[in-house]
Amino acid sequence: MTTTTIAIDMDIPAGVSVGEYERIDGGHAFHVSWQLPDNLCCETCQRESRLQLVEKNKFLSIRDLDLWGKPSFFVYQEVYHRCPSCGHRQSLLPPFKRRDVKYTFRFEEQVLVSLIGSTAEDVAVRLGIAAETVERIVKNRIEDAKAKQIDPQRKIERLGLDEISLRKGHKGYATILTDLTNAERPEILALSKGRDEAAGRACLEHLSAEQRSAVRWHHTDMSPAYLKACGVHLPNSQSVIDRFHVAKKLGEVADDLRKNYRAYKRSLSGEARKKLRSQMHDFRRRPEDLNPEQVQALEDLFEKVPSLGTIYHLRWEATKIFDSAPNRAEASRLLEDWIVQAREIEMDWEPFITMLKNNWEGILAYFEERKSSGPVEGLNTKIRVVLRRSYGIQSLTTLWTRILLDVNWAAKKLGPTVAEIRGFVNQIQKHFSGCYTKKRKSHFFLISFTITIEFFLREIRGLEAGLRRRLEGGSIYTA
Ligand SMILES: [Zn+2]
Repeated sequence: MTTTTIAIDMDIPAGVSVGEYERIDGGHAFHVSWQLPDNLCCETCQRESRLQLVEKNKFLSIRDLDLWGKPSFFVYQEVYHRCPSCGHRQSLLPPFKRRDVKYTFRFEEQVLVSLIGSTAEDVAVRLGIAAETVERIVKNRIEDAKAKQIDPQRKIERLGLDEISLRKGHKGYATILTDLTNAERPEILALSKGRDEAAGRACLEHLSAEQRSAVRWHHTDMSPAYLKACGVHLPNSQSVIDRFHVAKKLGEVADDLRKNYRAYKRSLSGEARKKLRSQMHDFRRRPEDLNPEQVQALEDLFEKVPSLGTIYHLRWEATKIFDSAPNRAEASRLLEDWIVQAREIEMDWEPFITMLKNNWEGILAYFEERKSSGPVEGLNTKIRVVLRRSYGIQSLTTLWTRILLDVNWAAKKLGPTVAEIRGFVNQIQKHFSGCYTKKRKSHFFLISFTITIEFFLREIRGLEAGLRRRLEGGSIYTA
């Protein structure tokens, strides 16, 4: 492989400067510093004094946004202030993170945006963090939002109101309000607990009355809760239902309908049933994502069970309308035709049709406003595809990254103590056992788990031996 050097522009939080960049295996490290204050208020005695620096040779590394598909980290030296009055020592908090966490504020934002339409577990796996971390970020943000007011000068034309779920089947829901005015950069405005109308209203009430009446479009799912909240608080706004909500409902209805192939399934031998199961996987995929053999196999199946063919074609027919209708009028005509077709056959598409009819205006508005919440939508689709196809690999990569970053690289750069290495071990094990306890114990996953843990233990032993040698030689060991 050859390398070249190029310059790129990078956004950094205000007041922060980057001193050094280092490319590390599986990620990027930025050595950052920030402007220190002249005076400081002691957190114990509350007296203000000039900054009395106590420098420790301790470097911290915290997670920042991804860069070119790899995680990046801020590395900085921890700085302390010693209060001249009471002697209390306190660490200075950098402007880019909150206390007691290992990630930047903007990483928190990324987590929240990724949560729209995804579960906490999925987001955790994709970003290589623990599900508990995701939950903690949401909790902190809800706390922040209670106090925070949105800048009343902010011009907002387009809003999104979505539910984010932390755990399936639990009460762990929150409502997230995003500013979609700049489609490229959705920004989170507010967060509240729950996913009912009250939660939607609570989010919108962070905006001033003028701001609310200036909003022209709001994007929500089809549940009445958010539609009602927006109806009350956004008097001049048009509802837009984004296609991924429609697609989700369509998929659910199609899946329900397909269940009537059971009689056929029962008539098959074990081997043929296995084959059918893999075909049902293709059944859920778009025709253009299949190769010619898969298409042929599906066609053969449809010949035997024609109702399956009807479901398949109607489903992707509807999807095609959302892909290609050039404008609102055309979309309206095509959807009407589709409804007529669906009603002609002896199948219960009514749950989907009712949903279409009940949200007709909002769904058609999507065709005028196509660009709208594309970023969020695109992100979700990508995440899901990646997750479905490579769950095991995904977490394996994550684990590798953690090993390389937390152990190898940290050992080289920061000279960790034995206690810190133990800390790393615990962290990684905790992280991994989090993934492991999820219900997806595929065979592959179990194998990768074993191999990785073995590798990892060997690595740790090597590190500890190295440290011990250094200790015995009387070199740098800081307890
Ligand atoms: Zn003090």
